[in-house]
Amino acid sequence: MKREYLELQQVSTHNLKGFDLKIPLNALVLITGPSGSGKSSLAIDTIAQEGKNRLLKILNYDKEFYVTTSYQATFSSSMPPVFALAQGVRNWFPYKTVGEFLGLVKVLEVLFLLEGEVFCASCGAFNRVHSISQVISWYETLKEGTKFYFLVPLLEITPKAIEYLVSQGFVKYLIDDREIDLSEEQLPQSFKEVFLILDRMVKEGKGRDRLVENLRISFSLSNGRFFLKTTEGLQAQFSLRPVCFRCGSILPVGWSYCKTCGGRGYKQKVACDTCDGLKLREEVLKSRIGDFSIEEILRLDLKNFKEFLSRFSEIKGLDTFIKSLLYKLEQAEFLEIAYLSLSTPVFKLSVGEKKLIEVLQVLTADLTHCLFILDEPTLGLEVEQRVKVLEFLKNLVKKGNSLLVVEHDPFFIYEADFIIELGFEGGEKGGYLVKADFNPLYFEKNCTLTSAYFSGEKRIVKKEKTRETEILEFSLPLGRVKILSNRINLIYGRPGSGKTKVFHQLFEFLVNQDKQVVFSDLSVFRRKEDWVIQYLNLWDLLREVLSQLPSARVKGLTKKHFSFTSKEGVCVGCKGKGKKIYKEEETVIEVLCEECLGKRLSLEVLNLEYKGFKIFEVLDFTIEEAFQVFSNLPKVKEKLMHLIDIGLGYLKLSQEVQTLSGGEKSRLSLIKNLTEKKQVEYVFLEFPFEGLHLEDINRLHQWIEKMVAKPMTFIILETNPLALFLADFLTEVKHQKIIFQGFFEDWLKAQPETLKEKFAFYQRFVAKF
Ligand SMILES: [Zn+2]
Ligand SMILES: [Zn+2]
Ligand SMILES: [Zn+2]
Repeated sequence: MKREYLELQQVSTHNLKGFDLKIPLNALVLITGPSGSGKSSLAIDTIAQEGKNRLLKILNYDKEFYVTTSYQATFSSSMPPVFALAQGVRNWFPYKTVGEFLGLVKVLEVLFLLEGEVFCASCGAFNRVHSISQVISWYETLKEGTKFYFLVPLLEITPKAIEYLVSQGFVKYLIDDREIDLSEEQLPQSFKEVFLILDRMVKEGKGRDRLVENLRISFSLSNGRFFLKTTEGLQAQFSLRPVCFRCGSILPVGWSYCKTCGGRGYKQKVACDTCDGLKLREEVLKSRIGDFSIEEILRLDLKNFKEFLSRFSEIKGLDTFIKSLLYKLEQAEFLEIAYLSLSTPVFKLSVGEKKLIEVLQVLTADLTHCLFILDEPTLGLEVEQRVKVLEFLKNLVKKGNSLLVVEHDPFFIYEADFIIELGFEGGEKGGYLVKADFNPLYFEKNCTLTSAYFSGEKRIVKKEKTRETEILEFSLPLGRVKILSNRINLIYGRPGSGKTKVFHQLFEFLVNQDKQVVFSDLSVFRRKEDWVIQYLNLWDLLREVLSQLPSARVKGLTKKHFSFTSKEGVCVGCKGKGKKIYKEEETVIEVLCEECLGKRLSLEVLNLEYKGFKIFEVLDFTIEEAFQVFSNLPKVKEKLMHLIDIGLGYLKLSQEVQTLSGGEKSRLSLIKNLTEKKQVEYVFLEFPFEGLHLEDINRLHQWIEKMVAKPMTFIILETNPLALFLADFLTEVKHQKIIFQGFFEDWLKAQPETLKEKFAFYQRFVAKF
């Protein structure tokens, strides 16, 4: 069979350098390359965007604002439908529960309408509420010629009420199972059960019309409540209106939501008092399907929910839907996340759990001939789960799909069908297509950065430590934990193991002890419009210097004039926003401010010169360039040096922090926090290898080694297999307990052979000195 390709020409979105590219379809295609080399620009901002645009065109969303033109490339081939899971998807619906996210609550809702028994808050009875088609289905199952009664229960069973009905012509009754005609006989002295016999029917040709007519009458007689009872004793109770069969009270209609929280379940991460985060009305929670109340079902874990659901897999019309969910739940067991309950909100999941839920949701959709675009599907996962996700991806390809995955795990690169490598560095020095080839051709000749790591030409160097260490012991709520001082300590475990808790508890403990602690904090990136230079508080240092320039003083410029926020400093054209925003109907158009060209400051300031560069140009410098120009300013130099060391030298001073990747943000924040402390004893890093290429990991690791030698103690939370090789001391957390503390080599010895083999693959990337 001839292979089809997705063909792109002149790809020049963001920093991409206008290359042509042929991507094979029906294959596992992997995109790799160092930080900032343009991987997301290619996968998410170009290909996923084109896919979305093509889809919107079909759907006739031809309005301009739906089609963003920010990507630049020509597509000269047809394209399968695209499903893109960009980083950050996992934060879209924090208050959704696992059950909602996976479509399990939806099936529960349907089952509830079909099979549920609604709880009556007035009398405690359980009621079925039926549709007319359910009555007809029951009728259709009867054998031809079967005789049956259409019985109506009486709300009031007093002789007076019965007398009235008789006067209206309703004379036939079933009293304690005996048929009595009250126009001929007297009402017995005592009895237990009375039904009005609305009709005696036979299952036959025209019987259905008569049945529907009787249903109509039952609405006015008994609010749509009735029994059908065959002469052989087969009986069914129906209720067409949401009214209690026993006491006549009004029942909640369908799947109704908690009134206190409006069905949101949570507010600012706290569960609603009324529904305890289950989102439904009390009567619905107490209602039941089979032997379980809805509340009990929502609290089931995925494993037990699978058993519950399998009982309904034969329901006509629902069977395909339920079978697809059962398959999904089976895969949840395979990925080892079946311990999560339906009602767990997404915000409570760990990074790895979110990733697995996402992968599960998309990859169990029974689709073929689609293009899936994934960004780092291994994030937060440990080795065995990574292997499982890879199997998942391969299965999707077997089903006829195409996969485009941005990923750096060397095992994924090794197993991919086709590898696209971007380079050579980040930012302006990046955006080149270094190599795009099938496996194993890609690995031949070792001419790329990535393949150099595979051939052993390059390795991540782990230094043997000479400086003395001390075992520090801390008593945390989750148990005693040991840490080696002046070493790299790794806290490791599967998603949901409790490792993050240990990490945070240790952090809080040390802060409370007044230790000098530094960590990377992503929450400080909330001010999205900030530039790198502002975020680092570098601009404050620089404007101090710049306002002292003779040329500035001549013009009467002060520090205020160098501010992005003061009225003296900002560009009058855009009031310091750098862009102008127009609204045309529903369309929002952003245009670069033509006065300051996005540099936010007044022209008076932008035109000043420092060492022969206009401020305008200075703001466009990369960190590396700025390091050369400002080398005479020690404080500025120190920050910039760290950033270069840690692999961020390619970032522009005026880059908006919101455009940075997770890995870039975490390193940037680390350096900011580190350089703003006089003395640092402990450094906490949460998933520092997120989104990092082997080369970036290498740089980051060298930087950590340098800091450790100062000395500093590092505590790292990471699941990347390479982290185990690079750390000096390992803490494993499982089931909310610390189960191992010691050296990786000793830990590995105690692991099963299959796991040892998996780790052996990663060993080649690390060299010890
Ligand atoms: Zn009732
Ligand atoms: Zn509520
Ligand atoms: Zn402006």
